[in-house]
Amino acid sequence: MATWVSILVPTLVYGAQSIEDGPAIESSYIRYFHEQHDSELSYADALENIKTQGQHSQSDILNFGLGSAPVWISFELHNAKATALRYLQIENSWLDKISVFFLHQGQLVQQTETGDSLPYDAQRSNRFFSFPHEFMQGATTVLIRIESDDPQVLPLFLYTPQEFTDRQVESGYTYGIIYGFLIALLIYNALLFFSLKSRRYLYYSFYLTSFIFLNAAYTGHGYQWLWSDWPQVQNTIIPVLMIMFALSGLVFASMFLALPSRFPRLDKSFNIFSFVLAVCLILFLLLDNLLCLLYTAFIGVVPFAVLMIIAGSVACFQGVKEAPYFLGAAVFAVISAVITAFTVSGLVEYNSLGFHAVEYGILLEAVLFALALAYQFRISQDEKVLAQRLADRDQLTGLYNRRGFNKLMKPIFSNAIRNNRNLCLMILDIDYFKKINDEHGHAHGDIVLLDLARALSKELRAGDLVARWGGEEFLLLLPETKHAEAIAIAERLVTTFSNHEVTTNQHTTQYTVSIGISELKRGNANFSDLLGSADHYLYQAKENGRNRVCYRVD
Ligand code: GH3
Ligand code: MG
Ligand code: MG
Repeated sequence: MATWVSILVPTLVYGAQSIEDGPAIESSYIRYFHEQHDSELSYADALENIKTQGQHSQSDILNFGLGSAPVWISFELHNAKATALRYLQIENSWLDKISVFFLHQGQLVQQTETGDSLPYDAQRSNRFFSFPHEFMQGATTVLIRIESDDPQVLPLFLYTPQEFTDRQVESGYTYGIIYGFLIALLIYNALLFFSLKSRRYLYYSFYLTSFIFLNAAYTGHGYQWLWSDWPQVQNTIIPVLMIMFALSGLVFASMFLALPSRFPRLDKSFNIFSFVLAVCLILFLLLDNLLCLLYTAFIGVVPFAVLMIIAGSVACFQGVKEAPYFLGAAVFAVISAVITAFTVSGLVEYNSLGFHAVEYGILLEAVLFALALAYQFRISQDEKVLAQRLADRDQLTGLYNRRGFNKLMKPIFSNAIRNNRNLCLMILDIDYFKKINDEHGHAHGDIVLLDLARALSKELRAGDLVARWGGEEFLLLLPETKHAEAIAIAERLVTTFSNHEVTTNQHTTQYTVSIGISELKRGNANFSDLLGSADHYLYQAKENGRNRVCYRVD
């Protein structure tokens, strides 16, 4: 024994890192080599192999990507003082099989088997893989074997017990905030769905749910808290949730941007891509082919990102009001998801920011989508109010139309009857309006109508109700008004209008009006009687030569 260590150690190690050097294990001290599939080496043979064919890690964090052959890595840690407890930690949560060997002066002093192919409780104290070890004075060789089809990304750290606890507390708070925020947003949107019955909130809830589960899965929280006893679930759930996340994102986007009605061709691309994803998901699940699932998930991220951004951009270009929010949200989420996917799969250099990018991106996206949904709600609310307003108004003059008048007249009318209050109704008609149209054109006629409407709105008191009843016929309902007062008002209107000049580019015209007045009498409890009576007096005014007021004379 002693002989091979004395030969191996000096050649194996390119210097040793001191255990006091801070938590990151420097890649320059690490050597690795890939084992041939289907021949698991003993640790002694592995050490021999590392000596003869081991390579230096080029990047700061070891990352061998998807579907890599089992890898052995080794490095030397030096403890200058007496025995010290340290936590060696591999900060990922999805590696299938891990064997760790600690050798001191050639002697195997500790060996640990772990990995997420074992039930959670059997092997771990936290969501990462950690290996507490009492480092004796001098050099300790650490040898690790990793076997996993999942991304073999291996951030390695060595913590003092204090640092180890601090790291756990800090991570606990961080994820507490992230999950707290996302779950509150999820509950809120689910409640909005139940109360507003609008499916976009439901789809957004699905999207958030799939992200929460995906994040819990790849950070290891899912295995720690949710499916601890099911290593089979742990083994496949990350790519499955990645695909579900993309699918729910596509469904939400299609609904939010109303792709089927607005952009049917784009919607077709969404459907085809979703279909392909779903088929791959089901097929590879049935075939139990983890590697294909992983490739589907990691490769599928790219068209997903492209489609989301195209949809947002197209909608923006077409002037869809809520689209900028969507595009902003999608750009953040998608770019950050791609960064994380690339970081994890080994396409780009590992760093902590890249690894966590999707979490920051999704938090920002969640806020923007929530704003987008609120904005969309406001737009639809405004449209409803506007539509209602338009339905009650005359387009040309902006006065109430028959529908608006009838709605507002009813409470005034029944109040007057119930409380025996005064109420008068006037009907006003422009004299010889047809002639104005004929002589100066329809457009000029419209200006006359507008002039009259403006003047009426100005002359009348708050509480009076004025409406365009027909072509050039207007109704004025005057609550709390005695017959004599109404007559005075009408006389004033007739005089005012006879002095009005309406000027347009080419023409100046004058016009007159005739007015019939009726008064609410006890027993006369019917609006159409009141209207009939006013109409009768209007007819009389026309008969008597126009430009005048007619009413019942006692
Ligand atoms: P009288 O003094 O008896 O009321 O005669 P008149 O010409 O005013 O009445 P008549 O009912 O014969 O004609 C009303 C005209 O009003 C006919 C129609 O073309 C015109 N008219 C109705 N609505 C509009 C409109 O919105 N704009 C314009 N410019 N004309 C309109
Ligand atoms: Mg007329
Ligand atoms: Mg008329």
